[in-house]
Amino acid sequence: MPDKPASPYSLSGKRVWVAGHGGMVGSALVRRLRSEDCELLTVGRDQADLRRQSEVEAWLDDAKPQAVFVAAATVGGILANSTRPAEFIYDNLAIETNVVQAARAAEVEKLLLLGSSCIYPKLAPQPMAEDALLSGPLEPTNQWYAIAKIAGIMMCRAYRSQYGCDFIAAQPTNLYGPNDNFDLASSHVLPALIAKAHAAKNEGAPSLEVWGSGTPRREFLYVDDAADALVFLMKNYSGEDQINVGTGRDITIRELAETVIDAIGFNGELKFDASKPDGTPRKLLDVGRLTAFGWTAKTELRDGVELTYRWYLDNVASASRGL
Ligand code: GDP
Repeated sequence: MPDKPASPYSLSGKRVWVAGHGGMVGSALVRRLRSEDCELLTVGRDQADLRRQSEVEAWLDDAKPQAVFVAAATVGGILANSTRPAEFIYDNLAIETNVVQAARAAEVEKLLLLGSSCIYPKLAPQPMAEDALLSGPLEPTNQWYAIAKIAGIMMCRAYRSQYGCDFIAAQPTNLYGPNDNFDLASSHVLPALIAKAHAAKNEGAPSLEVWGSGTPRREFLYVDDAADALVFLMKNYSGEDQINVGTGRDITIRELAETVIDAIGFNGELKFDASKPDGTPRKLLDVGRLTAFGWTAKTELRDGVELTYRWYLDNVASASRGL
């Protein structure tokens, strides 16, 4: 199998830093790594702001991790990306350059950097294979984030090529699950629909608003499945290409909205708001390489939505009721 290390990289007894442990992916990685025999390292923003090179260097000098997952990022949905472009490009470029450079200086043995499916061109052939990278223009609504993530992937390649660092990149599709962002102004579609369906159900509203036409197609992966795939790649992959992580299946936004309202028990109508952007028409990853390595997703969308809704009820809805 190409790019497979002679023997898997072992996390056993290793000091493993999850950069961005408070985020949705970072917290799932922390949950997943608890079942590995490794020492888990995390750092808060008050101690090391990852946008500051000197703070990142000082943290790595002190903590001396052997393996690093770069799950830290400034993230957001279609609206946040189009209205806060400077934050999306600056924060993400800064985090990536600081962590990758400091990891090399601190002689980190293995690093995995997370990309995002928006790195692929707007009109890339579907499903999108790893070699679609840099083959055409990006979707304008999230190009800022995409450019920063592409730079991060290219940094891993450059450090592998020039310094022999075993730095890899993985490309998750749209993720959802516990610790997602449910704020309607900055969230992605799945948590937004959960929050809207919950509110509509409680208010007894006749309808729920869905942005755009409902026809764009997206793929959704439960974040605990994603974390499992990332640990799998950390152990079993050493190559320069970013590896796609997804389910290999997509659905329309209308079908997603129907699944969410059914799971939550909202019986009203869906209303499509054409004044909101659709974004890219389809986003589905080709997961052939990951499947060939021996990994597949386990959580069905409906089950994942129910698990996420349960988390939302316990952590977001209860907090907003002041419980
Ligand atoms: P994208 O995958 O980068 O385009 O980001 P999003 O997850 O924000 O949006 C995906 C699709 O869902 C777009 O076509 C949105 O217009 C649509 N969508 C429908 N309702 C909503 C909503 O309430 N919030 C968000 N963020 N997107 C929505």
